[in-house]
Amino acid sequence: MLETKLLSFTQQHLTEAGTIIRQGGLVAFPTETVYGLGANALDANAVSDVFRAKGRPSDNPLIVHVYCKEQIYEIANSVSDDALKVIDHLMPGSVTIVLPKKADVVPDCVTAGLATVAVRMPLSQEARQFLQYCKVPVAAPSANTSTRPSPTTWQAVNEDMSGKIDAILCGKACDVGIESTVLDLTSDTPRILRPGIVTASQIEAIIGKSVVVITNPKEKVNSPGVRYKHYAPKCDMVLNLDGDIAKLCNYYDQCVEKGQKPVLLVQDVAKYGNRQCYPLGETDEQVAHNLFAALRHCEKRYDIIIASYTGKGEVADSVINRITKSAGQKII
Ligand code: AMP
Ligand code: MG
Repeated sequence: MLETKLLSFTQQHLTEAGTIIRQGGLVAFPTETVYGLGANALDANAVSDVFRAKGRPSDNPLIVHVYCKEQIYEIANSVSDDALKVIDHLMPGSVTIVLPKKADVVPDCVTAGLATVAVRMPLSQEARQFLQYCKVPVAAPSANTSTRPSPTTWQAVNEDMSGKIDAILCGKACDVGIESTVLDLTSDTPRILRPGIVTASQIEAIIGKSVVVITNPKEKVNSPGVRYKHYAPKCDMVLNLDGDIAKLCNYYDQCVEKGQKPVLLVQDVAKYGNRQCYPLGETDEQVAHNLFAALRHCEKRYDIIIASYTGKGEVADSVINRITKSAGQKII
């Protein structure tokens, strides 16, 4: 059991965080999407510890976080014209690009044996400060225990990781709240392997060609992470996507009759009478921001989360991707 230090953004603590990373330790840090669990991406032992701390299957590769664009060329073998455009216009930002990797630089455990590497340059000033002090590329998955909702506050990281990692850089709550868009640029057809706040239309406008959004799980073989149980709260959860308020109320009432303690996780809490509700947020961006924190809040207080989300469009689709998995595909 490690003593997990809680660090702040003072020069002294940032220096300490950078030293821990260079010495092979693990530091969780905020980004604008979710908190990441960082290790020196060039140190295979440190990276193995990330998998151990999270209980993450070793065939699920990590994203390498860089501070500056030059670092991309240190780990990627070739950067296509499409990739150059994305790097120019969308990085730093909430997009991760998959590129051919420099096999002699990036250890196999980072990329789960793939010939490619996923690279991201976060937008958040806190993340950028941390990466600057690390002076090495930082491999970082989300800083949650595997299968749990991603952490969007340092307190959520502490719940899952206390005693398992060296330090947590305690920054702001994450603005975006869901993980980065993963964009595969290793072939002529750009493909979104995981949807996020950076959308296919934004990418298409920049690279001037269509982007395929992979939606069929059977096609997702190139991004192993999407196969696993994901984002699940500790309590039961069901989801409604058509906004049928009568059905939701009925489901809630049946849970109460069975002696359960349900909560409605909904966008418009005024519509459910005096039933117990928790606000999911109104706009799609607010829902993305709130979702994982709301799941962690509700799992501590209720037996079952009855969620409802009716967003439409590209950002909504990214939210639906997460919330459907949280509910274990249990749609009512
Ligand atoms: P996480 O950081 O926990 O959000 O997980 C990282 C995501 O990026 C997972 O869905 C991985 O499957 C995906 N990923 C990381 N590296 C690669 C890669 N080389 N090719 C495709 N997907 C990747
Ligand atoms: Mg994750």
